[in-house]
Amino acid sequence: MLIVPEALIADLVSAEDAFAAVEATFAAMARGEAYNFPVVREALGGDRQYGFKSGLDRAGGMLGVKAGGYFPGNLARGMTNHQSTVYLFDPETGRPVAMVGGNLLTALRTAAASAISIDRLARKDAKVLGMVGAGHQAAFQLRAAARVRRFEKVIGWNYHADMLPKLGEVAADLGLPFEAVTLDRMVEADVIVTITSSPAASLMSAHVSPGTHLACMGTDTKGKQEVEPSLLARARLFTDEVAQSVTIGEAQHAIAAGLIREAAITPIGAVIAGMTPGRQSAEEITLFDGTGVGLQDLAVAGAAVRRAEARGLGVSVTI
Ligand code: NAD
Repeated sequence: MLIVPEALIADLVSAEDAFAAVEATFAAMARGEAYNFPVVREALGGDRQYGFKSGLDRAGGMLGVKAGGYFPGNLARGMTNHQSTVYLFDPETGRPVAMVGGNLLTALRTAAASAISIDRLARKDAKVLGMVGAGHQAAFQLRAAARVRRFEKVIGWNYHADMLPKLGEVAADLGLPFEAVTLDRMVEADVIVTITSSPAASLMSAHVSPGTHLACMGTDTKGKQEVEPSLLARARLFTDEVAQSVTIGEAQHAIAAGLIREAAITPIGAVIAGMTPGRQSAEEITLFDGTGVGLQDLAVAGAAVRRAEARGLGVSVTI
């Protein structure tokens, strides 16, 4: 098997590679050629979470698992809070094929999912990007969003206001003006990305204007919540994986409150594969509930392995 260490990933997989790989995987899921296995996620105590996301992509010839989690004390140790590794197996024989550092890949595949939703669902004339959240993932989200629309301005809100200047630096790097705002100013945004680890809604329905596209990316576990459930009832809903959206995604709260039905949520892959229309009017609110699926991880890890093999990089071992 090939070991592709974390340190090689930045040179092997670009944001564009991640976008293409994740888009192909979402479409394969919609066509029934790829499916995710149930997620295992356990609380380890002290706010630490660990879990396994896995799946099989028949079209892409990939079977595998991402083992990883969230360790909020890591930043103080000079490490990122997310720690993960992706393992790929031959779907015919079960033999291990690769072990790939998954930290940067997680950020790339998560930002790719949100950018795909913006590309497919936001109004073409979107000018103002609203960012709710300013942690590790937020920078990747902002860069990926800026690739798919010609934004003229970024407005940002974060629970910990002192983190916003760093996000402002990312906007400046992209040549975009940045303004820290109160949540009610999010009505000015055409696209809103939420990427926090919040346990309760920050963004309320009154903070969102008609015609907005939202990519809600932070809620990936039971008990997390970023937006008011009634906002979901106002929106056309899309997700990566419906089963995850209603159990561990943002939709878990609107479902529990009886505000929406599972049948109202469309997999984004169906839009990509041309099976369902995306946005249908300039006034409707579209909301993508990005929960993060194992197949996204396998897709970007597969891209990393193919590049590493082509360039003779990585460490080959026999197991
Ligand atoms: P981080 O620790 O770097 O940042 C956390 C963010 O949440 C910061 O903006 C922080 O201010 C905010 N926050 C913390 N407590 C809050 C509260 N009580 N109310 C409101 N905001 C609060 O984490 P990160 O790596 O940027 O990840 C952010 C979230 O995204 C996490 O919940 C993580 O699990 C999730 N995530 C989702 C996916 C996916 O595929 N959907 C992938 C990776 C990460």
